[in-house]
Amino acid sequence: MEFRLLRADEIDCRINQINTKGLSLLLYKDARCDMTLLDETVGPDNWQRQHELINGNLFCNVGVYVVRQNGYGEWVWKQDVGTESNTEKEKGQASDSFKRACVNWGIGRELYTAPRIWIPANNCTIKENGKDNRGNTRYVCHDKFKVTGIEYNDSREITYLEIVNMETGSVVYTYGTKSPKWYCYDCGNLIEDASFPDGKDYTADQIAGGSYKRYKVTLCATCYTARRAQDGNESNSD
Ligand SMILES: [Zn+2]
Repeated sequence: MEFRLLRADEIDCRINQINTKGLSLLLYKDARCDMTLLDETVGPDNWQRQHELINGNLFCNVGVYVVRQNGYGEWVWKQDVGTESNTEKEKGQASDSFKRACVNWGIGRELYTAPRIWIPANNCTIKENGKDNRGNTRYVCHDKFKVTGIEYNDSREITYLEIVNMETGSVVYTYGTKSPKWYCYDCGNLIEDASFPDGKDYTADQIAGGSYKRYKVTLCATCYTARRAQDGNESNSD
């Protein structure tokens, strides 16, 4: 079973480290995203979660009903433990253990391929926030950061990442190169990966390239197929 890759709007940014020079961000998914992907991929009736306390730690078991090739179905379970969360300890551990168990199922595992995300201090507002118990100054940043673009390769690794500081609206981080987007000359839609009537799957790049070679314009799968059918009809009527 394969879960789809997370969209940019499903990914949260949280501050990991912060000092006077800047801050680093980590990428996260929330529990609602896990529920959505489970519903979408296995169906709402085919997954369940159970919590159990082991040596004072809250674990979550996520069960998915898997139908084997011989037609027999069974519940398969994957487990993980929540980490301590200072605020709302129990609720935090429950949610955290669920999210981690879902990573064991593969949901959002691609986020572990993220590069180190460093936002320099001139791209965010860093303030002093008292002292820690060793007397060192603590820093805080209340800016909200949002992933506005993400792309992956076939190995489900992040190849492109763009992050905006929502307070300023500026792009404050980019990684990798964005793959080119192609638009259809006939209908104006974005050209996307598609299956053709011959049953083969093609990437957007292949479709754009193929249509350009034949018609000297880039076409989406629908319009490309329509033009080819038109050509077929014309040659039949000759
Ligand atoms: Zn089109």
